[in-house]
Amino acid sequence: MKKIVLCALAISIVACKAQQPKDIEEANPVEYANTITASELKDHLYTFASDEFMGRETGEPGQKMAAEYLKKEYQTLGIPSPLGADDYFQEVPSSVFTRGDVKDTENVLAYIKGSSLPEEVLVISSHYDHLGVDAEGNIFNGADDDGSGTVAILEIAEAFKKAREDGFTPKRSILFLNVTGEEKGLVGSKYYTDNPVFPLSQTVANLNIDMIGRIGEGMESAGDYVYLIGSDRLSTELHDLSEEVNNKYLNVNLDYTFNEEGDPNRFYFRSDHYNFAKNDIPVIFYFNGVHEDYHRPTDTADKIEYDLLAKRAKLIFLTAWEVANRDERPFVDKPTLPKS
Ligand SMILES: [Zn+2]
Repeated sequence: MKKIVLCALAISIVACKAQQPKDIEEANPVEYANTITASELKDHLYTFASDEFMGRETGEPGQKMAAEYLKKEYQTLGIPSPLGADDYFQEVPSSVFTRGDVKDTENVLAYIKGSSLPEEVLVISSHYDHLGVDAEGNIFNGADDDGSGTVAILEIAEAFKKAREDGFTPKRSILFLNVTGEEKGLVGSKYYTDNPVFPLSQTVANLNIDMIGRIGEGMESAGDYVYLIGSDRLSTELHDLSEEVNNKYLNVNLDYTFNEEGDPNRFYFRSDHYNFAKNDIPVIFYFNGVHEDYHRPTDTADKIEYDLLAKRAKLIFLTAWEVANRDERPFVDKPTLPKS
């Protein structure tokens, strides 16, 4: 009897310890960044960008499979949906698509509720749809575009979840937003910002990932690099924070070529972060640049640089950690909208 009581007591102490919130300043975020590994990213991507998912075209069966895959991963991780119960899908109706005949589709949402500032939300996004299958039956696997961003989000979510298990819940909430319809014209992210689950006024930043698994053209000698776009356009503070985090932990070569005003590629306007930026929410877009397999059936999982993908994902995690845990949200010193 005594033995049983002691045991029950021991179990409750252990369980209690795991739940006990700790001071986030005492956490070492690198410990959690290091749970993001090349091999786990590879495992995810070889499934997510396999032929089975049929190029994940918006509204088609392959995209639905991909949505179910993401939902299952979040459930396995024990990361809830902000929509409640087991509903991880924000329905994006066919009627909002203006190009072609696109069926109903869905964004996939998961979130970690913040500890002291739960009403403030950091959004980490990537699109999980791609181009589907062409008339000749070629499958566009989209391993880099944007399988790489999608699996990076799963690993970043897992790192935050491990920190939470150790008692280190971020101050602000984090929304993991896997958007649909990007290849149809940024439709899923526009639908989210038109119908936000959390008020846009309380959305403190968006870190958007679209293609971070490859070495872009002309960057063969750039070492461990990533293009950053948009970081200083609305908030100098977000840009400085991002630089500080990188200098402190990783020293990735941050390349701002495509951030130049008047860049002919106009990448700032061409992925999902723009729907946040146009609402004066500070963004950083992470991108490896285009390459010979961009938007071709040859964008496959065997061509991904997994160590580099892991390093870029760690950088995004550590940047997110800092945004989520600073005393103040990134200040918008260069707003573009008229003051209300
Ligand atoms: Zn893309």
